[in-house]
Amino acid sequence: MSIRLNSVPADEAFIASLEHIPYMAAFDFGRYLIAATTMFVVGWLLKKTIWGYRQIQPRLADSSDYRREFFASLRTCAVFVVAGVGISFGIRTGFLQEVQISLGLWRDVATFAAIIVAHDAYFYWTHRAMHHPRLFKRFHRLHHRSVTPTPFAAYAFDVPEAIVMVAFMPLWLFFVPTAATVISGFLAFMIIRNVMGHAGLELHARWWLNTPLTSWINTTTHHDLHHCGGFNRNYGLYFTWWDRMMGTEHEDYGKEFASNVARPKKAAGGPTSVRVSATA
Ligand SMILES: [Zn+2]
Ligand SMILES: [Zn+2]
Repeated sequence: MSIRLNSVPADEAFIASLEHIPYMAAFDFGRYLIAATTMFVVGWLLKKTIWGYRQIQPRLADSSDYRREFFASLRTCAVFVVAGVGISFGIRTGFLQEVQISLGLWRDVATFAAIIVAHDAYFYWTHRAMHHPRLFKRFHRLHHRSVTPTPFAAYAFDVPEAIVMVAFMPLWLFFVPTAATVISGFLAFMIIRNVMGHAGLELHARWWLNTPLTSWINTTTHHDLHHCGGFNRNYGLYFTWWDRMMGTEHEDYGKEFASNVARPKKAAGGPTSVRVSATA
């Protein structure tokens, strides 16, 4: 079933896109609220029960951190909804690629893998660019106010960064026909990995970095280091390969990960062994 209506005049396509705002708002706000809240609750339960030793930083986020992350993320969701109107309009008028429910199982699987790999590259390079001193303050400073990130930091972006983040979708759809199920799956995958990266406790198995089967997949420690003590390293979102190729992986990543999954982890209340400072 195609949702593109190429023959629809621009004004009708625009009105039809506006009519989809409630659905897009439910999806954009809903996935953030569900993923961040679920990760927060799961992380809190794990910390209180079997995985207290896996808490990455001795410091806890305070209420002002939660408030800032939450409201900035809601604003990002609003930016996503506005962008969604533009994307819907682009699809309906034929400027962007046709979107169907499915393009066939194997093609959908291949497209899903490709969009994850492409988005990882897009994220690495735009993220790294936003760390340039000329761009950092306007684009990325807000996200780094979370020195001890929580799952609610997932979309804690200033408006320019939110626009950079959402720009991936129309860019992709300009070139690649993609099934609606793949887009939904990709957005779900993105928010799940995003909240895991900001979870505050290491969620991955103790052997994660010891096997080539998983060592190229980011852990929570990887992104946590980017927020605390590794400001100019560990830019990647899903995979470690761009950081490794470009020499931006934190030199103590392996040691930090091992420390975070070791049982018992730290002397009471003491800082982690190699975390040097909270750089923001
Ligand atoms: Zn950053
Ligand atoms: Zn982050």
